[in-house]
Amino acid sequence: MSKQLKIPLLLILYFATTFWLYADAHIFVYHRFGDSRHPSTNTSLQELRNEFNYFKKNGYQVVKLETLVDALKKGEEIPDNWVVLTIDDNFKTFYTNGLPIFKEFGYPFTVFVYLEATEKKYPDYTTFAQLREISKYGSLGYHSYGHAHMTTMSDEQIHQDFKKGLELFKTELGITPKYFVYPYGEYDENLAKISKEYGFEAVLNQNMGAVTKGSDIFDLDRSALVGNAKLKTYLDFDELQEVEFLEPTIYPKDRRLTQVKAKVNPQATKAVVYISGHGWHPVKVKEGIIDYKTSIKLTDKRIRVGIMVGTKLKVKVFRAE
Ligand SMILES: [Zn+2]
Repeated sequence: MSKQLKIPLLLILYFATTFWLYADAHIFVYHRFGDSRHPSTNTSLQELRNEFNYFKKNGYQVVKLETLVDALKKGEEIPDNWVVLTIDDNFKTFYTNGLPIFKEFGYPFTVFVYLEATEKKYPDYTTFAQLREISKYGSLGYHSYGHAHMTTMSDEQIHQDFKKGLELFKTELGITPKYFVYPYGEYDENLAKISKEYGFEAVLNQNMGAVTKGSDIFDLDRSALVGNAKLKTYLDFDELQEVEFLEPTIYPKDRRLTQVKAKVNPQATKAVVYISGHGWHPVKVKEGIIDYKTSIKLTDKRIRVGIMVGTKLKVKVFRAE
């Protein structure tokens, strides 16, 4: 009996040590750089350097989004020390402030382009010429034409936006983008389904989380490194794949969240429930079920509900109709 127990125990210790060093792979998203006018979407240049130095000193490998997506497509194991860096909205401050630091560290990146802003020469955004120059050092992905709240649009409007944006992308930047990120990170089943018709190889959201073998290529989690970013916390997150949300399943019609119920790994004894704007709440796991009772009046039209077991986290977004 005791001999049989020894091997699993050693294995557990081995994995516990490995996981203590690194969790799964992580994708991060930045917006503005060194632009203190917009603190909630800004990363100061000092913070950026600190984060890059942290990757460097702690053995993280910053890889191209292409490298991660290709490995996922082949069903390969994803190294736990992989980090992928993405930038949304092609703000001019990436070109002027961020890019020189990415170049200095030799870190690859993908910039997701909001095309209307560039086409109409909005002052905070890069020009097409700047995007072409940026593409010498990293890749360009697609972030819609109009950066609208796409889940509120009709199917017809969604298709129009995709067609207009992708055509402009091809004409001005000479490539067909392989990856798509939702404006504001907002999506539902319908938008996810329509976006697949445009042949993207991967689609990324903006839910905190991680990426590992078997992660859904069309729903990859990204954590935002903006404002008061918690880099070390984000790096500790593992992908929680064995979770099934039972309650809520949709945004509560009466705008009151009363329960978070989910099926998780039956071996777990405790978990933490996260509700955006209301923090983290420890809960017990009983026979693989967590059942958290609360009474929250929802003021945001969109809430994120997360479930964390150990360092494994899964976040789901619910939107008012
Ligand atoms: Zn955006």
